[in-house]
Amino acid sequence: MCVRQKVVDKIESVPLIKVEKPKKVSGYFGSNTFSISEMQKRIGKKTFVSFKRWLAGGSTISMEEADEIAGAMKDWAVEKGAVYYAHWFQPMTGLTAEKHDSFISLQGAGKVKEKFSGSKLILGEPDASSFPSGGIRSTFEARGYTAWDPSSPAFISETQLGKTLCIPSIFVSYHGYALDKKLPLLRSDEALSKAAKKLLKLFSPRDIAKIVSTCGPEQEYFLIDHNYYKLRQDLMLTGRTLIGASSPKGQQLEDQYFGSIKERVLNYMEEVAVEAYKMGIPVTTRHNEVAPHQFEFAPIFEESNLAADHNQLLMEIMKKVALRHNLVCLLHEKPFAGINGSGKHVNWSMADDQGNNLLNPGLTPEDNLQFLAVLVAVLRAVHKHADLLRASIASAGNEHRLGANEAPPAIVSVFLGEQLTKVLDTIVAGTAHKVTKKDIIDLGVSRLPKVNKDATDRNRTSPFAFTGSKFEFRAVGSSQNISWPLTVINTIIADSLNYVAEEIIKELKNKDFESAVVAVIAKLAKETKNIRFEGNNYSSEWLFEAKERGLPNVASTAEALAAFAEKGNIAIFEKQGVLSYDELMARYNIWVEMYNIVLTIEASTLREMVDSIVVPAGLEYQGQLANNLEKISGLKATIGLNIDEKAFEDLKGHLADVTNKIFYLRKNTQVLVKLLEKAKSLEGKEKAAVYFNELKPLMEHIRKHSDDLEGVIADEHWDLPKYREMLFVM
Ligand code: ADP
Ligand code: MG
Repeated sequence: MCVRQKVVDKIESVPLIKVEKPKKVSGYFGSNTFSISEMQKRIGKKTFVSFKRWLAGGSTISMEEADEIAGAMKDWAVEKGAVYYAHWFQPMTGLTAEKHDSFISLQGAGKVKEKFSGSKLILGEPDASSFPSGGIRSTFEARGYTAWDPSSPAFISETQLGKTLCIPSIFVSYHGYALDKKLPLLRSDEALSKAAKKLLKLFSPRDIAKIVSTCGPEQEYFLIDHNYYKLRQDLMLTGRTLIGASSPKGQQLEDQYFGSIKERVLNYMEEVAVEAYKMGIPVTTRHNEVAPHQFEFAPIFEESNLAADHNQLLMEIMKKVALRHNLVCLLHEKPFAGINGSGKHVNWSMADDQGNNLLNPGLTPEDNLQFLAVLVAVLRAVHKHADLLRASIASAGNEHRLGANEAPPAIVSVFLGEQLTKVLDTIVAGTAHKVTKKDIIDLGVSRLPKVNKDATDRNRTSPFAFTGSKFEFRAVGSSQNISWPLTVINTIIADSLNYVAEEIIKELKNKDFESAVVAVIAKLAKETKNIRFEGNNYSSEWLFEAKERGLPNVASTAEALAAFAEKGNIAIFEKQGVLSYDELMARYNIWVEMYNIVLTIEASTLREMVDSIVVPAGLEYQGQLANNLEKISGLKATIGLNIDEKAFEDLKGHLADVTNKIFYLRKNTQVLVKLLEKAKSLEGKEKAAVYFNELKPLMEHIRKHSDDLEGVIADEHWDLPKYREMLFVM
């Protein structure tokens, strides 16, 4: 048996250590977080009032108050067993970062005491000069700073042996430039709040303190046994399989989707949920996804900033817990070719300070003017800035997924559903905007109640779909930090809410309120008609129609990212106070560079695997065939072995076939090496263009040859875990 066969033979669940936990989730939810109520118990009333005022957007707390909160936070963490604390932040790599410091401070010779001050809580100086900054901050320049984000509760991260207090923070340069993904999101939320308040003020005299964006991200992922992973350097180094022949059975029968969950996976899901609940992450939905060994977790929605932190934490928990079960959690957008990849549906809406959802149509959308005004603002944002939305999800990983018959194409369109479409069309036509009878669906079963046909989405292919009371941005990649797409959504919608408010104010000069609003809705519904599409986004007809409509369809990551370097787009970010020219250009540069780095790593890994695993396996099998042929032809000569001439030719053909396959593989790999060499002198978008147009197709071509070879050589010569094993044996 070869290594791979031995591994497959050994695949089994690991014995589980029973985790002790209270029976009810409510008994331990958030127990590892320094929640507002925990803080309230531990600090004075005056400080607590100041803190709440700060959170609501009022003046900041004083240094004395910060000291008091820091002391309380430290006491709580030390009681829980924490020895270290860390500012936890989200640099532009898309991952999270932390630098740990101990609470101890020296108290004379040989004595220490646990201490934590307000200034240490508020500001960290991790330096952290090796994070990409896109030129905003040269390494010789002043430090990078982390600053406490009080709107996301501090939490304790635990391993078997130790605990660390983590303080969610932003990451800025000495000159105040955002070096992370959290600060822009916070700024965009402020812009959104300001604009939405301006619009809502026209509809109601009530003073709204704050409006926030809300988000519930649905996280898709794959699980495979850890033993496979260890034998696949492509998975280890790049997160995806660069070679591997398809399994004859993949997802064709659709027998995985929502199917009963394997026990080993269910155990894993149980433990992830326990860890998530301790962190106050409200995961609620879990199920099998479309592809074999693909699954999903979805939480209850929260404020975007919190949802983004929680999603980052959840991804870390998912990876960590998987290892305890001898599994590996793959978050890459396309770990396996030929079957569905993974995305993250980012559900987005807005809520006011009383929790009212601004995208809630109510019972009669036709009458709900405010809802429609907000809705057309969203339509305008997507219509005007489809390029920014596309750019917000551009990455090397997601490039494999968009438009690959499983995810929306790179064309951005909006789905509204039949009812809302009708409403908008009626308003545009200038006919009645009065209540029409609510549509009722009779489910045809007398025991079931009759339900209102709501404005909910029945179209699963749209990249930006209205799904009842929220929009669902479906093109986001599974491994992505959602802060950035949320930032872009908030920014462009803030801009549009502002626009709608101003347009209404203009119309009010010669119209009554209702007519003014209807006029603006009609104008925008008409102007944005192009971006609305109710059909199948996966179909080839749509590709054609979208082109006719003049909608952009940018397949390449670097070209999509160029939207961030576009003058008009930069102006929007500047106007909304989200990012300056320098900050945005830095992001553009970093992400193009990251694309290039990812592809260089992938190509180098592919080269090595072909040369050191695939070709040697081929040669071994070739040797076996050659020996065999030599023997047979010897027997023919010596004892006159009487075999059909065709059978003899077939033996020769078989050897020739394997030999040729090896040759083509080697030939193309040599071309790849030359191409990588040539690309060394290029950088930025020029390099990305060569990679997209030449390197990627070449890698696909090499893969095809390798997969062909995998299909013919003896199973015992193939040491790389096969698709049929990774995806079906667990
Ligand atoms: P599906 O999209 O599969 O039909 P649901 O509609 O139940 O599923 O919701 C999917 C996700 O959308 C969940 O994470 C949910 O919390 C989130 N969600 C629901 N309402 C809102 C909202 N107002 N704002 C943001 N996210 C929301
Ligand atoms: Mg969904």
